[in-house]
Amino acid sequence: MKDLGERLAAQGVHTLVAQFTDVLGVARGKFVPLAHLDDLLTEGAGFSGPSITGTGLPRCGPRSEYWARGAASTAVALPWLPGYARIVCDGFVAGEPFESCPRQVLRRQVARLQAKGWHLRTGIEPEFFLLKQVAGRWLPADDADRLRKPSYDLKSLPRQRGFLQSLQRALEACGLDVLQLDHEDAHGQYEVNFGHDEVLASADHLMLFKQAAHALAEEQGMVFSMMPKPFADQPGSGLHFHVSLWSGLALDRNGNARNLFVPHRPDGALDAAGQLSLLGQHFAAGVLAHSAALCALAAPTVNSYKRLGVGESISGTTWAPAYVAQGPNNRTALVRTLHGRFEWRLPDASANPYLISAALIAAGLDGIERDLHLPAAVEDDLFALSLDQVRERGLALLPQDLGAALDALAVDPVIAAALGPALLTQFLQLKREEFTAHARHISDWELDRYAAAF
Ligand code: GLU
Ligand code: MG
Repeated sequence: MKDLGERLAAQGVHTLVAQFTDVLGVARGKFVPLAHLDDLLTEGAGFSGPSITGTGLPRCGPRSEYWARGAASTAVALPWLPGYARIVCDGFVAGEPFESCPRQVLRRQVARLQAKGWHLRTGIEPEFFLLKQVAGRWLPADDADRLRKPSYDLKSLPRQRGFLQSLQRALEACGLDVLQLDHEDAHGQYEVNFGHDEVLASADHLMLFKQAAHALAEEQGMVFSMMPKPFADQPGSGLHFHVSLWSGLALDRNGNARNLFVPHRPDGALDAAGQLSLLGQHFAAGVLAHSAALCALAAPTVNSYKRLGVGESISGTTWAPAYVAQGPNNRTALVRTLHGRFEWRLPDASANPYLISAALIAAGLDGIERDLHLPAAVEDDLFALSLDQVRERGLALLPQDLGAALDALAVDPVIAAALGPALLTQFLQLKREEFTAHARHISDWELDRYAAAF
């Protein structure tokens, strides 16, 4: 700890950002002077528990105090906030790991994997918008960003190089391996990819990315948005997960760990053309089997259901899944299988990375424990099928709104157990309130359609 304090001080750090993530996936925390690093790493920084969304903690008594205890290995100086270093914290209440802290929820699932001698690696792909508000209307920040097919637009991308370059440099300075930055398929929409990592580290990295992007976009007079679907006629923002399961407790220094999703032939030789090992198929089958409940966490806002679903967009398609299906390199399916990994395309940008990672593990382990088999691979374009054809193939539809997803979560014992009863109760209550508030809201669309119609 002394070493860490000295290292941070040598980097000019005077203050720590003790950061944790609330149930909604929003970063919360406090500034703590560097002189109190030891306190943060041992006891933690104290917070009023009920003031944090979704804790369900009481207003008084010993359980009213939420302790955010720093994980020393996560300490990193923040380039966009000179003099400040972020430390990711785990929640503790009354001296015990807090059962409803999203990072603790994920730790519990990581421990289940560790008990089997496994660890999960995820590569999270954030898509996002850069917006501005003009006379109360939300618009893409860049007025000139107008291509009919915006994917990979190399005219608009360089106009945002100020933001993108500062974001890239900031993430790299924090130790992330930034792989690619591109213009996505909607006006004002971008994607940044960084290297895959241990599931907990990946979730920490995503939260770091969000904090960096919010701050750096604000510096440029823009709003960084991970709203799932800001514009009805354009694709929304996904948060795809690339998933692989490995032997051992973590990659050792030489990278020695075996990817258990890589397929082999019956004679033991590598199946270079194959997609997933039998274990990988069981895991992915579990993820598909729990899709309806997973939706509540992976698509957790009322707006999320405007992204999920087959629909035309100005660019031609939405690229978001609508059916419970899997296929080799099939981007129209919910699970896109690749060699030795799969891409889980369900989550949107508003999802809490800790909770969906935990639920993903629980679903995958259930698939392994029950030897679930993948449904037949879909090789063709699911977006081109009529609803009748979808039904003929026996493909289930994803929940059509947040209410249906919450109902599915409430009756899914596997995903519910991963969250724990206290968090499940809080999550359902918060999200049912959100669903009801939206349902009661009378929108301009309704007035335009009905006011003078009858
Ligand atoms: N934006 C799409 C989504 O909402 C995904 C586009 C892509 O395939 O990268 O999932
Ligand atoms: Mg993308």
